[in-house]
Amino acid sequence: MKLKFKNLQFAMSIPQKINTIIEEIPSNVKLVAVSKTKPQEDILKAYEGGYRIFGENKPQELTQKHADLPKDIEWHFIGHLQTNKVKYIAEFVHLIHAVDSMKLLKEINKQAAKNNREINCLLQFHIADEASKFGLDLVKAKELLASDEYKALNSIKIVGVMGMATYTNDEDQIRREFANLKTIFEALKSESFSNEDSFKEISMGMSGDYKIAIEEGSTMIRLGSTIFGSR
Ligand SMILES: *Cc1c(COP(=O)(O)O)cnc(C)c1O
Repeated sequence: MKLKFKNLQFAMSIPQKINTIIEEIPSNVKLVAVSKTKPQEDILKAYEGGYRIFGENKPQELTQKHADLPKDIEWHFIGHLQTNKVKYIAEFVHLIHAVDSMKLLKEINKQAAKNNREINCLLQFHIADEASKFGLDLVKAKELLASDEYKALNSIKIVGVMGMATYTNDEDQIRREFANLKTIFEALKSESFSNEDSFKEISMGMSGDYKIAIEEGSTMIRLGSTIFGSR
């Protein structure tokens, strides 16, 4: 699938940028507006323009923004989450994008149960050619999903996968990495989630590579600087 995109204009307001992006992406692709490090005024501008889905990567910052801002915002936690920080966001977080260990999954389950809710999670995969990024590989993920420990978790729901491509100008490489994540998704879907319609999300694509990600099957793009300016 090849898509055409207009260039976003620098002078556009935050809601105008969001609307332009939403008009251009397929209707099955969700936009997560990544507001990390940005002031609450910027989020409110987007909110007043009708937007409700925001992503943050620091538990403390997220907790503060959640406390101060309208309660119908759908907050996504998009970064690496330390086990001891889960308790701060468990009451309200809508989706945790980057789960890469049983230890973390168990803690999310525990905190979700304490709050009488179920928390949606994505399994993060290491698809980049960079040692620094977190994430599972397919073998480890299958082990996790086959374990009795996992089957005992009643307060989490795994709704898909997430990955970050290498930070590079090599578009072919980025495309291969996203295609790999899509393949991983399909493998897990058929082996472990074939009866679960809720397992449907592929969170891939940031400001620099979201167009490629959508062409390779993304259902969720996480855009920060494109919307809110550079950090
Ligand atoms: C910061 C961040 C983004 C957004 O990055 P931009 O390049 O500003 O769009 C997306 N995903 C994750 C996991 C991030 O940490």
